[in-house]
Amino acid sequence: MKNCIFCKIVAGEIPSVKIYEDELVLAFLDIAPINYGHILVIPKEHHTSSATIPENISGRMMTIGARLGVAAKRSLDLEGFNLHLADGACAGQVVPHAHLHVIPRGVEDGFHWGWRQKKYENDAQRDGIAEKIKAKFKLAPTE
Ligand code: 5GP
Ligand code: ZN
Repeated sequence: MKNCIFCKIVAGEIPSVKIYEDELVLAFLDIAPINYGHILVIPKEHHTSSATIPENISGRMMTIGARLGVAAKRSLDLEGFNLHLADGACAGQVVPHAHLHVIPRGVEDGFHWGWRQKKYENDAQRDGIAEKIKAKFKLAPTE
């Protein structure tokens, strides 16, 4: 896609430090890492949303992401990793080409996600939300 920074990286028009590449996905170092070794795994074809990526490609992204997470933690002598994907600007997506973050994590790396956890008001409210989501769910790719 024209003017997409990650499509330009796929095309080699913008340089990147590549970690892994196959016919479906590309993995390269994030330019501004949360921790050193922070990797982005992207589909080679352009998708703004993770929900439109065909299953074989999103499956490859997930598999490669997890295995790169293991490679990163072992090679950098760390203890774990996060896989993170932001879909939509309000969720923190800045680059509109879907991407999976692979973030190596150490026990004392000083990074915190800042989780906020709510409580459902009651069982009926909770179950109503579950029903709404189930009614809209489609297995096919969807925006
Ligand atoms: P988002 O906030 O959209 O989930 O993450 C976008 C990520 O892309 C950010 O972590 C940012 O540092 C990274 N990024 C943005 N532009 C470039 C670039 O030109 N090269 C690389 N390697 N990473 C980039
Ligand atoms: Zn793109």
